[in-house]
Amino acid sequence: MINLKESEVWFITGSQHLYGEETLKQVAEHSQTIAASLNASPQIPVSIVFKPTVKTAEEIYSVCMEANNAKKCIGIITWMHTFSPAKMWIGGLKILQKPMLHLHTQFNRDIPWSSIDMDFMNLNQSAHGDREFGFMVSRMRMNRKVVAGHWQDAQVLEQINGWARSAAGWADWQHAKFARFGDNMRNVAVTEGDKVEAEMKFGYSVNTYGIGDLVKVINETSDAAVDNLVTEYADTYTLTTSLLKGGAQHQSLRDAAKIEIGLETFLKDGNFKGYTDTFEDLHGMKQLPGIASQRLMNKGYGFAGEGDWKTAALVRAMKVMGSGLKGGNSFMEDYTYHFEPENEMVLGSHMLEICESIAHGKPNCEINPLGIGGKADPVRLVFNSAAGPAINASIIDMGNRFRMLVNEVVAVAPMQTLPKLPVARVLWKPYPDMKTGCAAWILAGGAHHTCYSQNLTAENLQDFAEMAGIEFSLIGKKTDLYQFKNELRWNEVYFQLNK
Ligand code: MN
Repeated sequence: MINLKESEVWFITGSQHLYGEETLKQVAEHSQTIAASLNASPQIPVSIVFKPTVKTAEEIYSVCMEANNAKKCIGIITWMHTFSPAKMWIGGLKILQKPMLHLHTQFNRDIPWSSIDMDFMNLNQSAHGDREFGFMVSRMRMNRKVVAGHWQDAQVLEQINGWARSAAGWADWQHAKFARFGDNMRNVAVTEGDKVEAEMKFGYSVNTYGIGDLVKVINETSDAAVDNLVTEYADTYTLTTSLLKGGAQHQSLRDAAKIEIGLETFLKDGNFKGYTDTFEDLHGMKQLPGIASQRLMNKGYGFAGEGDWKTAALVRAMKVMGSGLKGGNSFMEDYTYHFEPENEMVLGSHMLEICESIAHGKPNCEINPLGIGGKADPVRLVFNSAAGPAINASIIDMGNRFRMLVNEVVAVAPMQTLPKLPVARVLWKPYPDMKTGCAAWILAGGAHHTCYSQNLTAENLQDFAEMAGIEFSLIGKKTDLYQFKNELRWNEVYFQLNK
């Protein structure tokens, strides 16, 4: 679906002419070895591309300019093997538009105790060369990721992996198009937002399309295509008897398949990376898209209900970031609470649209009344989700800035069978505990809509928020409400001043 190996991260080593040709030759060899090793590492999902050592302000400017213009380049890794006087970096860093990871490493892991001499010291200076570079980036107030440690260290590789995934999500947002069918649900506040500011800040556009235009594409779907998809449903899911061929509600399954094919055709033809719809605007549609949205999310499209374009875009970015990893990412909503003492948890779900990428086992395909929207009963996939660590992420528009809020949670296996609940669901316990986690989320103004992820971490989302230059607030294992409230207040000032 999304092949991250097609994306490039450029490995750029800084030095200078002071040390002579022999030292520079060794610098180049070492850099090539590191870049090749990162590129070959199964832990790194993108291609790492070696670039020749930069030794002058002109070379630095040129490589930054090239990185900006190279479509495949999603970010750069910088490393100062030797000292690289950092005033040389000002011109390049000033124009750099791609995310940057500063790898604070050195070629040798250990000090060669018996042979270390002044030649060795001249060559292996990143302990102070990287400090000079770090000063300049901080002096320029630039966001970047700093990863410190030996380049073969598993933790270092994991951090590069995570950052590269965030950079891929960020690159995917640039020039991305999201379709909005209808406006957001009437009178709802948190799904509103400044789409002009979002396009300036995030790089993606959100535009509206008449539901009639979508219905036209749905109606043009051929019977043969519907036959094929209905067969695929039967092969993939456990169908309720009434939906089977010859069953009383089989026509509803065909209607649902028709909606899925029409939606996918519309998205493909318009080159959209995601969409949002609303049950308040479904003229000409027989059902609210249920199984259609669940399956399109599983194919990599961003989706959120009720006109929530911010969450739809976030779901898409997180699907790109999590590409190839075990586990899934889904649109999610905090639905209802279980307040049993010592066993408090949240039941997360939506009226229909939870992505099957987080399903545990084979989903059931069912048809049930929806109760709102005034349309025919929608077909949907119903399943439970596995236990394990996860996060909920939300982006909200605070009026003067966007805030990304992340809550680390742990999903728990269902305690009961929930025979009458006709929707896919997840049970989780928020960190640091139910009361603190929920109170912090409310204080931060976090939305009821999120992207629920089984395979991304808070660090992935923090890196992503820094690439976007937006606020990031974490509710995690160490969150304390007193400190958290202060962070929100301090961020208020920071984002006023840092414009
Ligand atoms: Mn909702």
